[in-house]
Amino acid sequence: MSSQQSDFERTPGGAVLMDGKRLRDELIVSLRSTIAAAGDPEVCLATVLVGDDKPSQVYVKSKGKKAVEAGLQSRHVGLGADSTQSEVEAAVRELVEDPGVHGILVQLPLPDGLDPEPVLDLIPPEKDVDGLTERSMGRLVRGKLGHAPCTPLGVMRLLDRYGVETSGRNAVVVGRSTLVGLPQVLLLGRKGADATVTLAHSRTSDLAAVCRDADIIVAAAGIARLIGAEHVKPGAAVIDVGISRTEDGIVGDVDFDAVQAVAGAVTPMPGGTGPMTIACLMENTYAAYGMMQGS
Ligand code: NAD
Repeated sequence: MSSQQSDFERTPGGAVLMDGKRLRDELIVSLRSTIAAAGDPEVCLATVLVGDDKPSQVYVKSKGKKAVEAGLQSRHVGLGADSTQSEVEAAVRELVEDPGVHGILVQLPLPDGLDPEPVLDLIPPEKDVDGLTERSMGRLVRGKLGHAPCTPLGVMRLLDRYGVETSGRNAVVVGRSTLVGLPQVLLLGRKGADATVTLAHSRTSDLAAVCRDADIIVAAAGIARLIGAEHVKPGAAVIDVGISRTEDGIVGDVDFDAVQAVAGAVTPMPGGTGPMTIACLMENTYAAYGMMQGS
């Protein structure tokens, strides 16, 4: 254990608590001073929200607030639930063409009847700070300059900050979505991170056995408390991405109470990967500005 690791907060069972809120705050303070040191350039994150989905409104508001805290400009475009496909596309096209906008985030899901694909396709990779478009994913696969999706990137930041070695280690990613699981596999396995990665999913025959082999588990299935103590090798790092809204409030994919007694490090839920997703969105936006300046 490094001396830095001995300073980390621990769970009752002795696992390092990978505190996403704390790391988000650190990253935002650091970004703010980077921007100030660069002479306070106007770097703008634009968010687009269509309709009145409550959780989406909360997410977008919190992204705007954190952008301002990080020293970024925040612009919001709100469109009614009855907007047509061409109205949504026109709003996004306007942001694409505006040189004062560096990052564009279209909050998903769009209301029923609207197709997100043609909307996302309008966003050039430089401005795609969510990293979710076909071209951004292609760049990630090809190892070209671009933005990686914020949630899996946030997981990488947590592993790094809390001293979890990835090189040569076995990692299991549970869930194979294009939003989280697939890019997570790429980020863990690419040069620099160098983990040996297994992708588990709903058809994996013995999930517990697969996970027990892992030094790192990233759970992104969206199944409440899917990962229990029996899935975890003693000392492994367990990262919870899943969010299930239950009568008891928000519950992750990881049974925190059971897992913290076995794991070497674990994220809380909430307070782990969610705040890190937002922090990485801010970092990607500043990186977008850099790309557009050609630096
Ligand atoms: P998704 O529904 O698109 O994908 C879920 C994946 O989990 C699928 O690939 C499926 O094969 C796999 N899966 C389902 N049941 C399984 C099982 N019993 N065993 C193993 N694998 C199983 O979901 P998504 O968009 O990838 O999101 C996953 C979860 O992460 C959701 O709960 C979502 O709300 C949450 N999420 C959290 C953040 C964050 O910031 N923390 C960001 C995005 C998504």
